[in-house]
Amino acid sequence: MRYVACLLGIGWVCATSTAHAWGDRTHPAIVRLAISTLPEEVEREFRRQTRKLERFSNEPDSVLREREGRVEAIRHFIDLDGYMSPPFEGFPRTYDKAVERIGKRKVEKYGVLPWVILRFERQLRKALAAGDEDWVRQAGYLAHYVGDAYQPLHLTIDYDGQLSGSKGIHRRFENDVVDARMMFNERRIGFDIPEALLVEDLREKLFTALFATYPGSTAILAADKTARGAGKPGSTAYNDKLEAETDELIRRQIRDASVMLGSIWLTSWRGAGK
Ligand SMILES: [Zn+2]
Repeated sequence: MRYVACLLGIGWVCATSTAHAWGDRTHPAIVRLAISTLPEEVEREFRRQTRKLERFSNEPDSVLREREGRVEAIRHFIDLDGYMSPPFEGFPRTYDKAVERIGKRKVEKYGVLPWVILRFERQLRKALAAGDEDWVRQAGYLAHYVGDAYQPLHLTIDYDGQLSGSKGIHRRFENDVVDARMMFNERRIGFDIPEALLVEDLREKLFTALFATYPGSTAILAADKTARGAGKPGSTAYNDKLEAETDELIRRQIRDASVMLGSIWLTSWRGAGK
């Protein structure tokens, strides 16, 4: 439905659903934080490409969506609860298994985010192994999708609070709170961020991360209700309260996204024989 609404030009649906994942400042911040998790010699190579990586980390929401439309849009989320209720036991780990379970039409409705991350990791590794300069683009795009995977509202059918009386929460949370405070949060997160680690089974690690991120969606929707008690949605009082209620969650999600991204980059780098 979101895509139909987008095509029809019903603005808020586009603006508040999948058009943006985190905000324009958040993806580049995740890039910079991820670089800081890398071992020194790898860090040097990535740091040299910081500007490009930052730019590419936002392109899936702009350039790619413009070019590929709906095909791109479904790469930015996976509505886990569209498949089943938590704790997601027996959740299909591959795209084929997902199609087998609920059919292609529904898989495309609920999104394909984890499989896109796995594809970009393979592409990054291949580009690195071939000495292809395009590795920077692959690494930057990967940064975007990994970031999206840690945005709890990208994992639920109630992605905009439209089913629970919190309509508009997606944008209020991502833009008015997370993006607006990103510079401050980046410093706080960077202060004691863990190191990147080699990932043995990325598919499994990814799904574990998704399942761990999912409860955050309920927490954000609850925070919206609390913030509405402080002020009208969009007001400073509301934003301050929403920020206070989700501060810990935001820092945890951005930190974990950055460490995961650094770990995937590192694993690709080593896997490519670097
Ligand atoms: Zn996105």
